[in-house]
Amino acid sequence: MKPRHLCLAAALVASSLLHAQHLDLLLRNGTVIDGSGAPALNTDIGISGDRIIFIGACDKKPKTCQATRTLDATGLIIAPGFIDPHTHTASDLSDPKRAQNTPYLMQGVTTVATGNDGDSPTDIGATLSKWHQQGIGTNAVLFIGQGTVRSEVMQMSDAAPTPAQLNRMKALVDTAMNEGAIGISTGLYYAPGSYSSTEEVIALSKIVAQQGGIYDTHMRDESSYTIGLLASVKETIRISREAHIPVMISHIKALGADVWGQSSEVIALIDAARNEGLNVTASQYPYTASGTSVTASLVPRWAETDGKLLQNVADPALHDRLYKEMNENLVRRGGADTLLMTSAKDKSIVGKNLAQIATERHIDPITAAIQIIQAGGSNVASFNMKEADITAFMRQPWMMTCSDGSPGHPRKYGTFPRKIHEYVYEKHTISLEAAIRSSTSLTAETLGLKDRGLLKPGYFADVVVFDPATFKDNSTYEQPTLLASGVRYLTVNGKLAIDNGKLTSTLAGRPLKH
Ligand SMILES: [Zn+2]
Repeated sequence: MKPRHLCLAAALVASSLLHAQHLDLLLRNGTVIDGSGAPALNTDIGISGDRIIFIGACDKKPKTCQATRTLDATGLIIAPGFIDPHTHTASDLSDPKRAQNTPYLMQGVTTVATGNDGDSPTDIGATLSKWHQQGIGTNAVLFIGQGTVRSEVMQMSDAAPTPAQLNRMKALVDTAMNEGAIGISTGLYYAPGSYSSTEEVIALSKIVAQQGGIYDTHMRDESSYTIGLLASVKETIRISREAHIPVMISHIKALGADVWGQSSEVIALIDAARNEGLNVTASQYPYTASGTSVTASLVPRWAETDGKLLQNVADPALHDRLYKEMNENLVRRGGADTLLMTSAKDKSIVGKNLAQIATERHIDPITAAIQIIQAGGSNVASFNMKEADITAFMRQPWMMTCSDGSPGHPRKYGTFPRKIHEYVYEKHTISLEAAIRSSTSLTAETLGLKDRGLLKPGYFADVVVFDPATFKDNSTYEQPTLLASGVRYLTVNGKLAIDNGKLTSTLAGRPLKH
């Protein structure tokens, strides 16, 4: 038996070498930016199956120039497919009509993370296998949401968990990690995450750390609502230190006039933590408006306890306290004209800001906001960031790009090309190599994605080819669902998802397990 085995092994090696000569796809003469931050290089890339086979001038070894299909990339940029560490695509990917993830493919994104902000599908294993069976357009990874786990055990209670409840939560997190979650996400700003103490979060994060996962957070306060921006960054760093876990601060920002300019202090805190040896990173989207809802931006969390929001906003006994606190939050956000309604049950308010709605109704903005909540609520674009903070954050070597894409905000359709079009080509804030690194290898490293995020032989062939002259976002606050333009070719696991600027119908994405 033994010699036959050896023969078989030798034959397999020989045939794989032969196969290595035959390419499915050859990208010729492009400007290759490999995702590491290294300078661009004019060269060729060979792809076979789902992998990158070689990078280098194929003329030097003419045999490697033979491919089933050769694409001329002269004048085009070739980069690793972009990786988005914070999206809200779980329901898109589960719906066969939206599973292709078109808004992301058209931006050059080949992998998305979802289940962020503490809010994820409850059943990680079933969700990943559903995606595998139905097919998805991009690769996808899942976080287990701390808010999801908490409400599973304690509903919307603002109490501290009993030891038994905490054990139940730990077991749910452990199961999720075993089923392939890449880490835990929190939304400590939102209910019910906001009801959790730091210690409660650390206890769950320790479970994740034991399995090599990461901690992703929408911090408790990005502004001056409760503990403040700087204390929230410190809380995140403490979680990293005490749970021994890498942490990623999602969509980092200085939200509102009270904290404008604090980017320099936030950067100093993160740099100090990194110097201490902690793995602290962050992501951001290149827009001055955040995307949230009338409720999340204005209503204090106590009014949402036990899911009694509608009851509480209608309660005359609570009116004065609620009105006063909502008004403080509106001032903090920048006033009624900075909240633009982007999608709502009541379609008549979409495209108007809170000030306009109040004027039309001859009422004050807070009363209008309460009416909107009672009519089913509304998503808003909240203009609350300063360009100087965005720029300062963007220049950090630990800053990734994330879309945080949500209904009504142009970021879901525009983040990645916008960063390059506006912050590389127009404003020269960062180099193209740095922008691409922040959207590829840094993210793959942070999320623990094996063999992705770089153009490198042996790596998965997730590759974007874009025209630097036309690569741009088209989505706006008025028309948030206009697709981006300028991606000429896009491969996901070696299959063309965009061919000559046009979407194919390929569903070549894979759910990736931790
Ligand atoms: Zn968030």
